[in-house]
Amino acid sequence: MRAIRNFVNGKSASASSGRAGRVYNPNTGAEQAEVAFSTARDVDAAVQAAAAAFPAWAATNPQRRARVLFAFKQLVEANMDELAHLLSSEHGKVIADSKGDIQRGLEVIEFACGIPHALKGEYTEGAGPGIDVYSMRQPLGVCAGITPFNFPAMIPMWMFGVAIACGNTFVLKPSEKDPSVPVRLAELMLEAGAPVGVLNVVHGDKEAVDAIIAHPEIRAISFVGSSDIAHYIYNHGTANHKRVQAMGGAKNHGVVLPDADMDQVVKDLVGAAYGSAGERCMALPVVVPVGKNTADELRERLIPEIERMKVGISTDEGAQYGPVVSAAHKAKIEDYIALGVKEGAELVRDGRGFKLQGYEDGFFVGPTLFDKVTTEMRTYQEEIFGPVLQIVRAETFEEALALPSQHQYGNGVAIFTRNGRAAREFASRVNVGMVGINVPIPVPVAYHTFGGWKRSAFGDTNQHGMEGVKFFTKVKTITQRWPEGLTDDSSFVIPTMR
Ligand code: NAD
Repeated sequence: MRAIRNFVNGKSASASSGRAGRVYNPNTGAEQAEVAFSTARDVDAAVQAAAAAFPAWAATNPQRRARVLFAFKQLVEANMDELAHLLSSEHGKVIADSKGDIQRGLEVIEFACGIPHALKGEYTEGAGPGIDVYSMRQPLGVCAGITPFNFPAMIPMWMFGVAIACGNTFVLKPSEKDPSVPVRLAELMLEAGAPVGVLNVVHGDKEAVDAIIAHPEIRAISFVGSSDIAHYIYNHGTANHKRVQAMGGAKNHGVVLPDADMDQVVKDLVGAAYGSAGERCMALPVVVPVGKNTADELRERLIPEIERMKVGISTDEGAQYGPVVSAAHKAKIEDYIALGVKEGAELVRDGRGFKLQGYEDGFFVGPTLFDKVTTEMRTYQEEIFGPVLQIVRAETFEEALALPSQHQYGNGVAIFTRNGRAAREFASRVNVGMVGINVPIPVPVAYHTFGGWKRSAFGDTNQHGMEGVKFFTKVKTITQRWPEGLTDDSSFVIPTMR
């Protein structure tokens, strides 16, 4: 059995808990590797390596740091096929989608290559008589990232790309379900010229995460995962005086106004709801058609699209989506489908019991469609994170606007319409962090910033873009003067610039 190991101080390293996670191939259901879990001692070894690397890395000028990221980008591109196959073999998403996962991460690396510009401070000449004021952004020290299974390339790159560009060193604790790609990324960073200890990877579960939260040398934690864990990490990390950004779960709505281009809406919806088997925090698992005619037409058009959909193994180029990540997750999704029926929603297409010929033990769930879902149902309130689309019918624009606005999650939302004024009003009033107008998955580009509202994010600072730079740096403001000889008497009042 292949063993997946930590990567510390530029070398493969063991983990000492004696416990290990199983890594499956979701296409076949077979166990393919074991990942040893880390203890506080293993985490400490990674933190010590990162702390030792920090002074020299922080003192390396930003242009040289950027050059390492340029080289890293080229190496990832040169290894794209290998990385995408590795990613798909542990996650289950189709190869084209794995390449998208890696590519979206690389776009953050491209943003981070511009770090000399992003780190420039502000300067005021003559803020007072002979007084200048300037500010600079300095790195924090050792930073940590804890990442989910669903984007094992993109989300680690969101974090370490910006953190390392800013002059920090990094300890990454990736998901134990698909841990191989993060290790390959760390190896490629070393090959690209990052000094040993700048990027370290420790595997594990709650024990390793708790060691990160408790470690006094770690200055900041960036987390992405489910909301309860995000909340836990935010509370405990900040209690330990760390800077924390913790992104959580989602339940994104797509509002369809009666004037929308229905051909386009149907194409967009099936991709956004079922792509990656619905395992995206920016998936669209809820559609809100406004008016009975819109709802009936949408439902009738969705059915043949769903029937045509091809679910297959991740290397099948004709497949639209592959298996979900684990047997436990498949069972959870199927339980939610059963609950939806029990709660009284109308099950239009049922993906339970889906078997792919030759891959009967794979973790597949067929595309599922519910109609007449209502707000008091648990299946509406909670995140399912599978290939399940729910139709929630609304009578009016106001009712449709209220649904995502009042939901506990507020990650993304989309509106489909030809009416610019309605779209503008929706974007302005909706209580959600990222909005798409005729864009089903509004993941912002790397130089903007990613983050939801309400229970989709804890903390104030988003991922990547200038928000990421702010998260991974602290501001120092300097007030200077260079007087010739004695100019003032002692003053016992607060200095002002009158
Ligand atoms: P998860 O919360 O189970 O795991 C995330 C990380 O937390 C992993 O590294 C895991 O090892 C660790 N972890 C798990 N249980 C823990 C515990 N009890 N204590 C401490 N650490 C623990 O999430 P997941 O299943 O890997 O990923 C899917 C979730 O992530 C979904 O809820 C999805 O919406 C969310 N997500 C959110 C975003 C976003 O930006 N808002 C992006 C991607 C995924």
